[in-house]
Amino acid sequence: MKKLMISAAMAGISAVALAGLYGDTPNALHAWAVHDQNRPNPVKVTPADKPGQPPSDAIVLFDGTQKSFEENWVDGKGNKTKWKFVDGTMESVRSAGNICSKREFGDVQLHVEWQAPVKVQGFGQGRGNSGVFVLGGMYEVQVLDSYETNPADMKNPNYADGQAGAVYGQNPPLVNPTRKPGEWQAYDIVFHQPVFEGNKCVHPGSLTVFLNGVLVQDHWEVEGPTWHMRRTRQEKPRSTKGSIQFQDHGNPVHFRNVWVREIPSRYSNTTHGTYLANEKDVSAQRRATAEKLLAKIDKSKCSAEQVHQILEVMSYCGDEPFLGVAKKICGGYLRKLESWKGSELDGRKNEIRSIRGAYDTLNRNGIAKDCPLNAKVRETCKAKGWR
Ligand code: MG
Repeated sequence: MKKLMISAAMAGISAVALAGLYGDTPNALHAWAVHDQNRPNPVKVTPADKPGQPPSDAIVLFDGTQKSFEENWVDGKGNKTKWKFVDGTMESVRSAGNICSKREFGDVQLHVEWQAPVKVQGFGQGRGNSGVFVLGGMYEVQVLDSYETNPADMKNPNYADGQAGAVYGQNPPLVNPTRKPGEWQAYDIVFHQPVFEGNKCVHPGSLTVFLNGVLVQDHWEVEGPTWHMRRTRQEKPRSTKGSIQFQDHGNPVHFRNVWVREIPSRYSNTTHGTYLANEKDVSAQRRATAEKLLAKIDKSKCSAEQVHQILEVMSYCGDEPFLGVAKKICGGYLRKLESWKGSELDGRKNEIRSIRGAYDTLNRNGIAKDCPLNAKVRETCKAKGWR
């Protein structure tokens, strides 16, 4: 197709006009062609200068200032938290309860850094215990001093589904990349909430977690809300949004550099891809694109440019009114092609070959095979020996 675009450019035809014909065309499960230049590009986001810092579209919940501590965080009842602001960090206070973001979120990318107490006390669940909760406390990624929880020596034995990096009570981390107590540790968490149709859970929701840059949860599909001692199942949540929370488990754990990015549901793309596509949504998107492209065509002309444009439209949608316009434009070009002889025909070698290339893409995808212009450009190229 790259060749086609180059030859089209040589013929004075806008490469953009060929956009929809660059790769395999849309079909019942794909609203966009492969390499489709009509497909909207994602918005630009400026990344931070340093890893772990918030990108331009992040919502910063705690940046180390007292102002962000007081403005963004409350206790479980919406009142002023009894957690402490200490040296640019938020410190858990025994019996203060969880600290909760005022703002509520659904699906998120969450970055947070935490520090287990320098002074090591207790064992197992009693050593530097806290937690990162999403969706208003429904799901906990465990925070714990698990540095000495190592199968090689078991200095600090603990249950695997409750050590740092675990989805609490459900799934242990893949590995244990925790740093020493007193050192800062970073979580990067991707959370997708469950999706329900009525009261039926159709997608269970998931947690993907990096701890200190190491993957510890690989798209774990949550079984239900995380809980102590009990298995749960996925039930319709009270809300599709909830606070980010850090747990008060009685140990003075510190937190800093907290930011989130709101992200779309993994299941919200219904117009492209075999797994998630909904044929009705795909069809509507294809038609919308075809209408947009049709509006740009000068329908009073039947030059090679208009042929390329209408063939592009046909790759999205082949019924009326698109088919009628295609017949008019391609029919008009066909009559001109039939009239060209000798040097006039030879002078149009590149544009005729480029139209054949467009038909090649369409025909390969089962479109416009019976178009009279399709047969004529092939016949012409063959008679002239044009490859
Ligand atoms: Mg905990």
